[in-house]
Amino acid sequence: MTTVLLPDPAPRERPFRRPTRQGRTFHIRTFGCQMNEHDSERIAGLLESDGMVPTGDVADADVVFINTCTIRESADNRLYGNLGQLKRLKDANPDMLLIVGGCAAQKDRDLVREKAPWVDVVMGTHNLDRVLDLMDHAEAWGPITEIVDELQAMPSSLPARRELPHSAWVTIQVGCNNTCTFCIVPAVRGPEISRRPGDIVREVERLAADGVVEVTLLGQNVDTYGRDLAVDGRRRPIFADLLRRVGEVEGIRRIRFTSPHPNDFREDVARAMAETEAVCEQLHFPLQSGSDRILAKMHRGYTVERFLGRLAMAREIVPDLTVSTDVIVGFPGETDEDFEATLAVMEEARFDQAFMFLFSPRPGTAAAEMVDDFVPSDVAQERFERLVEMQNRISWERNQQLVGRRMEVLSEGPSKKDPAMATTRTRGGKVVHVPAELPPGTFADVEITSAGRHHLFGRLL
Ligand code: SF4
Repeated sequence: MTTVLLPDPAPRERPFRRPTRQGRTFHIRTFGCQMNEHDSERIAGLLESDGMVPTGDVADADVVFINTCTIRESADNRLYGNLGQLKRLKDANPDMLLIVGGCAAQKDRDLVREKAPWVDVVMGTHNLDRVLDLMDHAEAWGPITEIVDELQAMPSSLPARRELPHSAWVTIQVGCNNTCTFCIVPAVRGPEISRRPGDIVREVERLAADGVVEVTLLGQNVDTYGRDLAVDGRRRPIFADLLRRVGEVEGIRRIRFTSPHPNDFREDVARAMAETEAVCEQLHFPLQSGSDRILAKMHRGYTVERFLGRLAMAREIVPDLTVSTDVIVGFPGETDEDFEATLAVMEEARFDQAFMFLFSPRPGTAAAEMVDDFVPSDVAQERFERLVEMQNRISWERNQQLVGRRMEVLSEGPSKKDPAMATTRTRGGKVVHVPAELPPGTFADVEITSAGRHHLFGRLL
């Protein structure tokens, strides 16, 4: 049986519930962005509150949750590949409960059902807090689909099982009011809704009391945070104020945020970064293209000149800023000239790191309709390789400049590849491998001894 329930009009408080699945195991697979990673932590927290324990082996799991992404075609393909593999496990163990949540489920609920009728629960991005009830329903009555199409208000915060005990994500806003032509997020996550600042600060205080020293504030466009909140005769909260308020929470030594938007990033945020000790010198500043013509086709709302001007402003106000970016190669209509312009901007901006993607048309977006302008895949691939090669060189050069510098790092524990090394991060977010035993959550001062493209090596001081 498939049921679609209507959304609640008000934020839901989670009533106390006695654990009912004591000792049963769960396994979560996450695709996509940090928002999804955080959602998976919240799902894990809810399952643990019901007495369940995580397992790394999917074949051992009583409950499998796939948290899906739909930003690129490859993510869709991986989802259906995974569901095929899980069908074999479910055939062997019919009691296994299979749940598909996240953006692909929100957008393609019927397709998921059609392609994988063996899935027990299909749920969206706005009703995570309902996961236990939906599992109860599926166990008692059979398969269920529940998608809330539009979030009316931010739900109350949920318990989360953090990957690193000292570090936590904090959602400050969901949805997006922009109309970037390549992006499916507004269709899937809906319009922007901000959480009240007091609510956010209280969550950060609770995390600090629980031993968290680092928080990452999450939103699709953090620079427009608060614009939707009621004024009540006072001015609306803005992101710069939020940074300062979170910066006052005792025990929080590092604050990061993602993502700002170059069109909305203003000097007040840069000043709040520079003047709030806990806010790290790290900025993700998505360029997407270095051609004004393509930026306009993408509906990004800024020109290259404005982008570079704001980047220069941020670097001037926040010394030692580490900057990363996103670039799409082969957007419909991109000519050799447009691509050369992107290369030139990348050379000028000298990002520490870039997340580079080949354009992939997402059904439901405006760019997917620009079929006549699609760039041949061999041309796009060749451009992509040139861009990656260039950025690798720039990342390496930027990292070389850090050799000999003394920096504070925060440990994430033993390196997965070499347990004799600790994996740590600088305030700028760069990975530093240190030959030392440093439990997760330990701060240390190191000197950078050598550098590669993607990480640094250091020695304890
Ligand atoms: S700002 Fe653009 S790319 Fe970012 S989530 Fe909104 S629509 Fe998508």
